Formats: sequence, C-alpha cells, structure tokens
Amino acid sequence: MSDCLFCKISSGEIKSEFLFEDDKVVVFRDIDPQGPFHILIIPKEHYTSIKDVKDESLIGHMFYAGNRVAEENNVENFRYIINTGEEAGQTVFHVHLHLIGGRKMTWPPG
Ligand code: 5GP
Ligand code: ZN
Repeated sequence: MSDCLFCKISSGEIKSEFLFEDDKVVVFRDIDPQGPFHILIIPKEHYTSIKDVKDESLIGHMFYAGNRVAEENNVENFRYIINTGEEAGQTVFHVHLHLIGGRKMTWPPG
C-alpha cells in the first residue's frame, strides 16, 4: 500500500534497523517503547487488521519471529499485544504484533 507507514518501513523506503527479516515478516523496535524491550512484528504484505489475515501460517510465523528475537535478546518474560480497531488502541492500520518485555506487567491492561 503506497501510503502506509509500515509498508514503507518493511520495503526499506523508510530506513529502519531490522532485528529479523525473511520473505514474510520484518521485526523492528517501536519508536515509543512501552518497556525496556518493545518490538513490532509485521507482515511484509499489507493487511489493515489481524481480522483480515486469513493465512494461519502467517499468523503463526509472526509469533515464531517474535519468540526468536526475544530469545536472541535474552528477554524471557514478555507480553504479546495486537490492538485491533481504534477503540482497542490501534493507531497504525497495517497489522502489527507488539512484543513488550523487560519490566513487570500489570493486569488487566488499560
Ligand atoms: P498501535 O497503537 O497501532 O497498536 O501501535 C502502533 C505502534 O507503532 C505504536 O506503539 C507506535 O509507537 C509505533 N510507531 C508509530 N510510528 C512509528 C514509526 O515511524 N517507527 C516505529 N518504529 N514505530 C512507530
Ligand atoms: Zn501497509
């Protein structure tokens, strides 16, 4: 999608450091980290929301990439989040899986 921030990041049009990349996903640090370790795992293909991702292997692959980057960075405790829809806190409409770790978490989330 031409006007999508995360498409521009995943394609390299906006330069970012990738902690992981393969043919399906890229992983990079969140610009406004909500913990000592906060990364975003995104598919290279544009989907507005997780509800639009019908490929279950892609969903699994996003978690595989997140697990792998967490392990490589010795982050043992973390939380995965996918905000879906404005009311749920989604602000970037290219699906992304947050992985936040490195601090004590509270429950329930706000
Ligand atoms: P959402 O609120 O949609 O679940 O999450 C969007 C996330 O993208 C936020 O945590 C925000 O900090 C992050 N973000 C927004 N713009 C950029 C950017 O240009 N670069 C990076 N690395 N992260 C961004
Ligand atoms: Zn996109």
